[in-house]
Amino acid sequence: MPYNPRVVILALNSRLSALDFFMERTLILLKPDCVERRLVGRMISRFEDKGLNIIAMKMIRVTPELAREHYAEHVKKAWYPALEGFITGAPVVAAVVEGLEAIRVVREMLGATSGLAAAPGTIRGDFSSSRQMNLVHGSDGPEAAKREIALYFRDDELCGYQPTVTQWLRASDEG
Ligand code: ADP
Ligand code: MG
Repeated sequence: MPYNPRVVILALNSRLSALDFFMERTLILLKPDCVERRLVGRMISRFEDKGLNIIAMKMIRVTPELAREHYAEHVKKAWYPALEGFITGAPVVAAVVEGLEAIRVVREMLGATSGLAAAPGTIRGDFSSSRQMNLVHGSDGPEAAKREIALYFRDDELCGYQPTVTQWLRASDEG
């Protein structure tokens, strides 16, 4: 197919289209321990402070069926029944977070699975001393993000938008 010079010029001119390539969406869950400990606001603030965009959010009670779908990779593990009891034991807040490399960035903000092993400065490192009660879930890769977002939200519940503060979060020559 012959290349279309107009498309090339458009792509070169549009900073947004270059950034779109690195723009990702990921699912976070503020788990029952987070809700019960009244840490929802502080956790959401950390993602907002980082410059990530919250484009969907709701409080729900995870059912055992949803828990088994969400944690399909862990269902056969000896500790799965305890995890299911925990995640269905009180409401959670599910949210979709959007941003540059958001999947990796959120995972790094969470820290290691066990709060005891997680580095200080991470969410789990700062707020958790538990392997199970580690406050916040984040999708661990692009496939998981796509699958998990679809488990919790319909397409028409995702409210993507361009925040006016964007120009103050990254310099225009950063690509
Ligand atoms: P992560 O959430 O860091 O991706 P995993 O995918 O290994 O961690 O586990 C999913 C969730 O299951 C953890 O976040 C934690 O809440 C719980 N969990 C992990 N390991 C254990 C365990 N050994 N015993 C009980 N719960 C666990
Ligand atoms: Mg995991």
